[in-house]
Amino acid sequence: MFHIYCPYCEELREEEEFHPKGQAHIERPKDPEACSDEEWGDYLFFRDNPRGIHHELWVHAVGCRKFFNATRNTVTYEILETYKMGEQPTITAESLANREALGSVQVAGGGQQTVGASNASVASVKGVKA
Ligand SMILES: [Zn+2]
Repeated sequence: MFHIYCPYCEELREEEEFHPKGQAHIERPKDPEACSDEEWGDYLFFRDNPRGIHHELWVHAVGCRKFFNATRNTVTYEILETYKMGEQPTITAESLANREALGSVQVAGGGQQTVGASNASVASVKGVKA
């Protein structure tokens, strides 16, 4: 069992209380009528599936029932941070690439980034305050 930090409840809660809801930060087109079929189809159906850092929408379904965002490493399943709706992540693939350049992040065999791999089994997540 691992725990996820809810930024609204401000505490670590059991994983079973949460549900993932897909990719975060997807903006609905301001004027859907002006979209081409391809643009509308991209908005509705196509999502990123990166190897590494991914920003995801989660809901604390059996808790406060609020939606929030999480930055997760899809290779290690480690949740690196959670943050409230409307906030921006502090950890991005670009920021990790910069840290990697400074030597503070280990590079896995496939050249992918891993962060805090020693704690991968227990994801302890710090909340992010804007
Ligand atoms: Zn909550």
